[in-house]
Amino acid sequence: MNIDRRKFVSHLGLLSTATLISANSLIGATRPKKTKLGIALVGLGYYSKDLLAPALLDTEYCYLAGIVTGTPAKAVEWKAKYNIPDKNIYNYDNFDQIANNPDIDVVYVVLPPSMHREYVVRAAKAGKHVFCEKPMAPTVADCEAMIKACKDNKVKLSIGYRCQHDPNIQAYMKATKEGKFGKVRMINSAAGYFDGRSNHWKQNKALGGGVMGDMGVYALQGARLATGEEPINVIAQASTFRPEIYKEVEETMMFQLEFPSGARAACQTSFGVNMNHLQIQYEKGWIRMEPQSGYSGNKGSMSDGTLINFPYLKKMQQPIQLDNDCKALLDGTDLLVPGEEGLRDIRVVEAIYKSVATGRMINL
Ligand code: NAD
Repeated sequence: MNIDRRKFVSHLGLLSTATLISANSLIGATRPKKTKLGIALVGLGYYSKDLLAPALLDTEYCYLAGIVTGTPAKAVEWKAKYNIPDKNIYNYDNFDQIANNPDIDVVYVVLPPSMHREYVVRAAKAGKHVFCEKPMAPTVADCEAMIKACKDNKVKLSIGYRCQHDPNIQAYMKATKEGKFGKVRMINSAAGYFDGRSNHWKQNKALGGGVMGDMGVYALQGARLATGEEPINVIAQASTFRPEIYKEVEETMMFQLEFPSGARAACQTSFGVNMNHLQIQYEKGWIRMEPQSGYSGNKGSMSDGTLINFPYLKKMQQPIQLDNDCKALLDGTDLLVPGEEGLRDIRVVEAIYKSVATGRMINL
């Protein structure tokens, strides 16, 4: 009697599972597969307004579907300009309701760095894939929490390193990998611009300011990508030309890296001067890029006369990055720049600050 009852209950279980599966597959069958993903931008400052929103008019696999802003006037302006329906406009308080919005597939966090962790975690908990601007976050612990939140919620995380999507950077990475000019010996990597502002989050420690996270990561990426290796130690010095403005954070950072192969990199970054170049000195030749991180494409040449200017970018880097990432999400393939890559940089950035604080070389 008991056995029969158990069998009956187990049959019922199988039946209800089967019913659920067939109902789900019916829903799946009736809902057409998306060919374009809806992106919601969080934080409508300079980078969202001037670069990402225009880029999203130039993409094949995604579009601007929603916005998250704390400024009602911006909501009005963006709604009119980009034809965004009210139901896709959120503020920082009701942001979590985005979980119930099927128009939004990806949340792109474009806030000051110290806010990245909170909004990446909230977006992941809402079940959305997340793109997060560089620098990933101020600390290694933040980055690890962001990666974990995305894993736990089974969503993907990409860091906005637009340059890695540029075929011109891929060209010098390939030259190193194939040993075109032998081993890498010395690298000089610089990224900076003159920032005339005096009251911005870039000068504010609590908001994740300082040039190292902002432009320094480009100088660091140049060295890491040129060698294809992770540094084993770093020594760094911070300085400032305008102490009246840079009271809490560094305006300039110089740092030297040693790589396992013996290659060495001298890197510089500053909010006080314009500079943007990468010189890779190999055993039997050199590669020079300038700019090494330009929105409309990086450029360079090799010592054998090869130009690194191909295919000359018809688009800015941002639509290329957005399309690559969204195509990967649609196809279910790996993202080119996952959270782990953002974390690799922040490990070095943390060591750089430790070196500045102690005046010593820090092993990684
Ligand atoms: P921004 O100051 O122009 O914009 C920041 C946005 O965050 C604004 O909309 C502001 O209202 C909002 N915000 C919310 N809370 C805030 C607070 N407490 N303090 C300050 N702002 C607050 O900055 P941005 O230049 O657009 O930079 C945003 C992110 O994008 C940063 O992580 C930055 O490094 C990154 N960025 C990346 C690139 C790139 O080439 N990949 C270029 C520029 C900026």
